Amino acid sequence: MNTDTSPVLPGATLGVLGGGQLGRMFVLAARRLGYRTVVFAPEQDPPAGQAADRTVRAPYADLDAVERFAREVDVVTFEFENVPVTAVRAAERHAPVRPSRALLHATQDRLREKRALSSLGLPVAPFAPVREESDLRPALLATRAPAVLKTSGSGYDGHGQRRVGTDEGLAAAWDELDRAPCVLEALVDFRDELSVVGARGLDGEVALYEPFMNRHANHVLDVTLSPAPVPGVVRDAAHEMTRAVLEAFDVVGVLCVEFFLLHDDSLVVNEVAPRPHNSGHVTIDAHRCDQFEQQVRAVCGLPLGSTRQVVRHAATANLLGDLWEDGTPDWPALLADPDVALHLYGKSAARPGRKMGHLTVTGRTIDDAERRARAARAVLREGVARSASSTGRLSAVSARSAR
Ligand code: AMP
Repeated sequence: MNTDTSPVLPGATLGVLGGGQLGRMFVLAARRLGYRTVVFAPEQDPPAGQAADRTVRAPYADLDAVERFAREVDVVTFEFENVPVTAVRAAERHAPVRPSRALLHATQDRLREKRALSSLGLPVAPFAPVREESDLRPALLATRAPAVLKTSGSGYDGHGQRRVGTDEGLAAAWDELDRAPCVLEALVDFRDELSVVGARGLDGEVALYEPFMNRHANHVLDVTLSPAPVPGVVRDAAHEMTRAVLEAFDVVGVLCVEFFLLHDDSLVVNEVAPRPHNSGHVTIDAHRCDQFEQQVRAVCGLPLGSTRQVVRHAATANLLGDLWEDGTPDWPALLADPDVALHLYGKSAARPGRKMGHLTVTGRTIDDAERRARAARAVLREGVARSASSTGRLSAVSARSAR
């Protein structure tokens, strides 16, 4: 393993495993700091590749290609957690991979992750493994109904999850999930969802953003508010837990801890993302140093930047593929508001639920920022509806709004 600890200075080449929007925003931040970038991704025309100096297109299982890629760069990071550990191991032979494989390994499997978090003394919802039929009854006894059955591996944004209330319901849900290895988790009665993005440098320095408050729709992040309107004790507790994860895994890079905030203001850790997070996109327009620049600094062994929010209050709304349902969103109408910051990820196919971009606005208060973000996003659809009506395409729009 390559354990070189000298800083990787601007002018050097950074490698990213993964080609999605998180890689794209990392690459853009790296370029701003004068680095060259190489993206490794299996798919054609990946969002990160559009912004990088070079893209290596190969499957992660092609370990020779991974090794050639790693030889070309000075440090490697990853932009999603399902990069196979074998690929990371191959890359490590030629360049430091940051954060380390240990964090990736723990977060690739929900059961491993929950066990690791509870062994650190962090509060998680009661959980139990479901690997075979005989696990079903004891699992529901351990968590009690209602509960959520989640696949252990490769789940994201609520995919591979079923709510269950009875033994029969659990058995049926497990069948629906193809009897894959699962975790049963108690359903948490939360008042809000929070996240903390944190960075840790090569020298152990830690930088934490104030918590964000996250609103989900259909299990997918919809709107993020920054800073989360929560008492200082909640912020401090969320920070302490995030720091504990950063230090326990000896992280060099950026991660995000997602929390449930309960009605008594206590916190339960939902999950850990070993990379920048969708909720942290707000930092690009609202904070002194955004989560992607922070990732560049951390993996390059440079001092971390300030996490101070320079424009209070801010809200980010995700733009999902659904917005394209009736035609191209009305970008000019959106941008007619000069205060809207628009980010599009360069994805050509807009499928429902697919994250295509986001927008960020600021407000006098956090409620004002949330209202403005939702209103700005609504403009995108309204414009399409107007132009559809003038070209005789009104029927689909009015049929939907009549429902
Ligand atoms: P996840 O993919 O585990 O982050 O889940 C996506 C979303 O589903 C979360 O952000 C919550 O809104 C909801 N969810 C997941 N697990 C639970 C739980 N144990 N109790 C209540 N809601 C949950």
